[in-house]
Amino acid sequence: PISIDDPIEEHRICVCVRKRPLNRQELQKKECDVVTVPSKCVLMVHEPKQKVDLTKYLETQTFRFDFSFDETSSNEMVYRFTARPLVETIFEGGKATCFAYGQTGSGKTHTMGGDFSGKIQNASKGIYAFASQDVFLLLSQPRYRSQNLEVYVTFFEIYNGKVFDLLNKKAKLRVLEDAKQQVQVVGLQERQVGCAEDVIRMITIGSACRTSGQTFANASSSRSHACFQIILRQRGQLIGKFSLVDLAGNERGADTSSADRQTRMEGAEINKSLLALKECIRALGQNKSHTPFRESKLTQVLRDSFIGTNSRTCMIAMISPGMNSCEYTLNTLRYADRVK
Ligand code: ADP
Ligand code: MG
Repeated sequence: PISIDDPIEEHRICVCVRKRPLNRQELQKKECDVVTVPSKCVLMVHEPKQKVDLTKYLETQTFRFDFSFDETSSNEMVYRFTARPLVETIFEGGKATCFAYGQTGSGKTHTMGGDFSGKIQNASKGIYAFASQDVFLLLSQPRYRSQNLEVYVTFFEIYNGKVFDLLNKKAKLRVLEDAKQQVQVVGLQERQVGCAEDVIRMITIGSACRTSGQTFANASSSRSHACFQIILRQRGQLIGKFSLVDLAGNERGADTSSADRQTRMEGAEINKSLLALKECIRALGQNKSHTPFRESKLTQVLRDSFIGTNSRTCMIAMISPGMNSCEYTLNTLRYADRVK
């Protein structure tokens, strides 16, 4: 049994919440903001002042998280308290993971991949880029400089239980598990990178590949998980791995009653993977020997991240402020609450 005061266990799992600001359309429609982030780690969902019957789904509830970020927070600020503390883990032979969870439109891709509000993606302003910058910063320090560490990145998408390489024109890849339960994504491109700018180029290529051929209304990016990994090797041997995952929209997990068979199947798959993810993170937090990683492709591919003594995870639950979103906002908060 692990003592509650064990300092490592204490920081193994971090769960945060980030609220995005109301956007222009929501402001034009006079959507009311039903979420308050009153202090560092408490968050409240409340009934709006305007008289609307929300009793169907809205409870006045308070949730607690390790950190919560209100609508004025920047990506850099969010990064500093979430993924930043995990970067050093990969230099110490560990696995780090950071998940962006939430409803479509809540800010997952914005937080992870950068600002897309201009004509082109500003990939230097997201968690992928900030984490990469810090990896190269650490590499340049005397204690690591002499170790001849190499940095690689991968970028892939998991859509309907299948893996596609975003750095190789969405090539479909097979996932194999050997007798020792080692999981391998066969043929996944690992691109060596020499500086943070190289990484930004890869993020831009992969992000464009992810959204290519999509129509706005039926964007498959909301139905897929995207995983960007920073890998450290020494003479080819794996040292550490940081996986940064932009999850499928959690509302898609509810598409299981749709009339359309394809949508229904996708919804069931998303639902399964988000449930498996929750269980795997909980197993890591509780130091359980059994991790149900085979329950979904997502958790199978990330198997290494949920085992071992030096694995650390952070989840950022993204929420929209508007009243029209509050059903999914509550779902997101409840999910995040149960991860820890
Ligand atoms: P998701 O990936 O969860 O579907 P996005 O990241 O695409 O959501 O965000 C939806 C929209 O909201 C985008 O136009 C994005 O630029 C904007 N947005 C998201 N989060 C923020 C934020 N914190 N500040 C400003 N705009 C944001
Ligand atoms: Mg997205």
